[in-house]
Amino acid sequence: MIRFSKPSKMPCRSWSLEALNTCAGSRDSNGELVPACAGCYATTGNYRFPNVKAPRVENKEDWKRAEWVDDMVRALDNDRYFRWFDSGDVYSLRLAVKIYEVMKRTPWVKHWLPTRMHKFAKFRTIIEQMKALPNVSVRASSDSVTGEFDQRHGSTIIPDAAAAPKSVSVCEAYKNDGKCGDCRKCWDKSIPVIAYVAHGQKMQKVINVAIKNSQIQDRVKKVINIKKG
Ligand code: SF4
Repeated sequence: MIRFSKPSKMPCRSWSLEALNTCAGSRDSNGELVPACAGCYATTGNYRFPNVKAPRVENKEDWKRAEWVDDMVRALDNDRYFRWFDSGDVYSLRLAVKIYEVMKRTPWVKHWLPTRMHKFAKFRTIIEQMKALPNVSVRASSDSVTGEFDQRHGSTIIPDAAAAPKSVSVCEAYKNDGKCGDCRKCWDKSIPVIAYVAHGQKMQKVINVAIKNSQIQDRVKKVINIKKG
């Protein structure tokens, strides 16, 4: 059975999985959570409630059904905007191929797919195929919580709006109680990178550590330069 979630602040429905255990790109080469995932909103608050967890757990099995693509296409009959993965990620290549089929067969829907699976070589072809569809915006999520990004079409997190790099478009939901209102920038393929202003105590702690670490690195660089000089 197709089970959607309806993020209260977004203008559309979503199909999601559990955060972290389906997020293959959430850990670095040492097995540590990358900063953006260490502060992830989808591991706190309402996301811990059984009624929120249950559909995400069920979806992890449900997509394997032979009829899943047909069922999704039917279920999206009246949707105009759709967000994949309010939580979780495209952990399986077979799932990615099925999602691509859904995207291709629902040209009346604008799809937005944020993901970290671009880190894995075997996902790159299917991600490029998704991006080639006119109704699809695939955004590579940066691991950074201080505004860095390395993909041409993606998103990053910033500590506050004043810290946004010049080349990014800032999500203004923070001015609007976290709601999108009329904004649809995330679905707009012409906008290269969107920066989300960090929110929540968990993310703030991660940002404090990241800023402290970068200050330490800056001091070390200065000492090295003084020694070189
Ligand atoms: S950029 Fe616009 S569409 Fe995207 S999350 Fe922010 S308000 Fe919503």
